[in-house]
Amino acid sequence: MTRRRRIYEGKAKILYEGPEPGTLVQYFKDDATAFNAQKKGTITGKGVLNNRISEYLMQKLGEIGIPTHFVRRLNMREQLVREVEIIPIEVVVRNVAAGSLTKRFGIPEGTPLPRSIVEYYYKNDELGDPMVSEEHITAFGWAAPQDLDDMLSLALRINDYLSGLFLGIGLKLVDFKVEFGRLWENEEMRIVLADEISPDNCRLWDSKTNEKLDKDRFRQDLGNVAEAYQEVARRLGILPEAGPGDHTPPKLVQ
Ligand code: UDP
Repeated sequence: MTRRRRIYEGKAKILYEGPEPGTLVQYFKDDATAFNAQKKGTITGKGVLNNRISEYLMQKLGEIGIPTHFVRRLNMREQLVREVEIIPIEVVVRNVAAGSLTKRFGIPEGTPLPRSIVEYYYKNDELGDPMVSEEHITAFGWAAPQDLDDMLSLALRINDYLSGLFLGIGLKLVDFKVEFGRLWENEEMRIVLADEISPDNCRLWDSKTNEKLDKDRFRQDLGNVAEAYQEVARRLGILPEAGPGDHTPPKLVQ
């Protein structure tokens, strides 16, 4: 058997060459990092849960017309995706104050924001992912003004849809980070959602108790990290134990 070619290894995922040209296999690891990789650890089962959660959310977003790189899940830890040219910008959407926003502006954690706030960060580990403005992004050519318009409107649509989806299962979407890529099809380029959407890059709090069910449990040493990710999957009705094709719909919380 020939070994697959590894295209790229990141902190939480590995990308392998896919079975057909223009495709990649995205492998989800159990590794976790925080604070620009100063804190490292392993969360047993995280990769399996994130693979399944991201599959579910990407499919749902696809159904409402958000173009994504997702093709299909292959197994417990891998999914097939379209090969895209990643735009080196992390788009963060915030609904409630948490994380770096609380530090930067001295706003207490948990303060609802007057409206959703979008921020951009330049993806560069050596520089610690600095926050950038639209001016930087277009002046330095990381994205064209039209690309940036598409990214902004997609990020806001993703926020609207996911906020409602999570609210329905008793979770508050505090903030999240998404990445986009350029997908080329016969000379035409489209901006599509790439990477993953999971508790690694969303803040999700229980609507009633504000219990954290996301990577902050790892960042802040709160314990029960895998259990929290599992609880998100359980509420979505997609616990991997249920087996493929055996999905119960998300449980509505009144
Ligand atoms: N985030 C991420 N990757 C990063 C930085 C942030 O996925 O490299 C996510 C993070 O999980 C949170 C949101 O983006 O849901 C906003 O993060 P913030 O700017 O508050 O930074 P943090 O406090 O996570 O360092």
